[in-house]
Amino acid sequence: MSSVMEYQHFINGQWTPGESGETMDVINPATQEVVAQVPKGTVNDVNKAVANAREAFESGVWANKSMEERAEILLKFSTNVLKNKNRLAYLESLTSGSTIRRTMGIDVTAVSDALKNAVQRSQEIPLLEHAMCLPWHIPQHSYIVREPLGVCAGIVPWNFPMILAAWKFAPALMMGNSIVMKPASITPITLLELANLAHESGIPAGVFNVVTGSGSVVGNALASHPEIDKVAFTGSTEVGRQVAHMAADGIKRVTLELGGKSPTIVLDDADLDMATSLCIHAFLYHTGQVCESGTRMLVPRKMQDQIVEMMIEKIKKLPIGNQLNPATSIGPIASAEQLETVMKYVDIGKKEGAQIAYGGNRMTDGAYGQGFFFEPTVFVGCNNQMTHVREEIFGPVQCVLPYDDVEEAIAIANDSPYGLGASIASMNATRAQWVAKKIRSGTVWINTHHMLRADAPFGGYKQSGYGRENGAHVLMEYSQVKHVCHNLVPDASKYRYFKVLGLN
Ligand code: NAD
Repeated sequence: MSSVMEYQHFINGQWTPGESGETMDVINPATQEVVAQVPKGTVNDVNKAVANAREAFESGVWANKSMEERAEILLKFSTNVLKNKNRLAYLESLTSGSTIRRTMGIDVTAVSDALKNAVQRSQEIPLLEHAMCLPWHIPQHSYIVREPLGVCAGIVPWNFPMILAAWKFAPALMMGNSIVMKPASITPITLLELANLAHESGIPAGVFNVVTGSGSVVGNALASHPEIDKVAFTGSTEVGRQVAHMAADGIKRVTLELGGKSPTIVLDDADLDMATSLCIHAFLYHTGQVCESGTRMLVPRKMQDQIVEMMIEKIKKLPIGNQLNPATSIGPIASAEQLETVMKYVDIGKKEGAQIAYGGNRMTDGAYGQGFFFEPTVFVGCNNQMTHVREEIFGPVQCVLPYDDVEEAIAIANDSPYGLGASIASMNATRAQWVAKKIRSGTVWINTHHMLRADAPFGGYKQSGYGRENGAHVLMEYSQVKHVCHNLVPDASKYRYFKVLGLN
């Protein structure tokens, strides 16, 4: 596809031009070629989308459908996502730098799974519960119903544009809400495509809207909009904090999926072939641009040299290149800005005294020079107080930290403001699970990393955020409960509760 694709907002079931007529370029990070343009959204564009979402919600066109009716439409949507796999995977790879191998193999299926999970889990949560009427109660029938929240906002980052959006719209829609979403400025088009597919699958107009634009205008307007009942945000801890402040003024519900600096603990009983592949996978999946990337690698001091050597031999064999080539393992960094951030942290690491065992440079030879490619980088000689070890880099940089005993490894692993993920490499199941119990993070993997499942909750401890996505837990985040108390003695002269005021 050589021509520039032109998109509009998706509002009220149709492609809708932006108010200002201004657009933003979307580029391929492997070539810097402009591949698409989207509207630069304004506050009025947000107001329009929110008004339509509110109207759709109040009309009951979606909220009043039965769970079965909504499930049927969401399953059709899920099937349509899979039918459009090639196109969605291509567009996601083209704009986010994700390898086509991954978007074809994982991402599109994960979107479809998020929809299926919302449907399946909805059958496990009580939508109607009856409270017991105890003998000393005045006769009454008390029941508790689970209802939608209203209009939700979903704000997502650029690293997994489709998956992170699906983790929000799938549960929001299943529970009967309307939603207005904002994709990241650099990766907006696959979410627009998904909103259109949702509409074609039977989601009524106004229920699923997407407004493109900057975080400071569109994101801000959504997080502070008086007609938004809930904000679901995935992104940096810094912006998450601002979003929480804005939402607090309107007492909106908020879920925050924020940054991380996850540890990978190699125990001395680990299988080293497994452990070294795990540590590479942990920091190089999506070129290290994953919130729960394993970027602090804790190794027994006496095994450090052997482990680093084995890792480097394996890293050398990984093909780095254009993400659209199915042979590519590691694609470009998603933007010039993110490449700058990675280079800045590598410099800081060197200045603070860590040594580079492998990589450390931007790749500029031949075709690499047109894109944002950076060598996989392994730092040794690190300690847990160094800036590049403590702060999230969001790039292909691994920091090796030696430890002397397991208690020390656990202490270093937990010495972080973040608590999103952690992994343990060990062949001793009991020992690995004992370590898992001691780790303060929302997910712990044993002999794997990045293994997120639609049917298991995902979220952060500490400054990695609050609330959970996926599992049955996420359906609670997009619904609320109402207690209905029905007095069964509707006779003012006999109703004992009125005696309190002397009414009878
Ligand atoms: P970011 O915080 O810069 O942006 C995230 C989204 O917020 C974007 O859509 C952006 O336009 C919007 N935004 C920016 N300023 C805003 C504002 N003032 N008000 C409202 N919205 C605003 O993050 P990013 O650079 O796109 O993504 C990388 C970050 O996301 C990393 O910190 C990473 O750890 C985090 N992340 C977390 C998870 C998770 O599940 N915990 C998953 C992926 C990424």
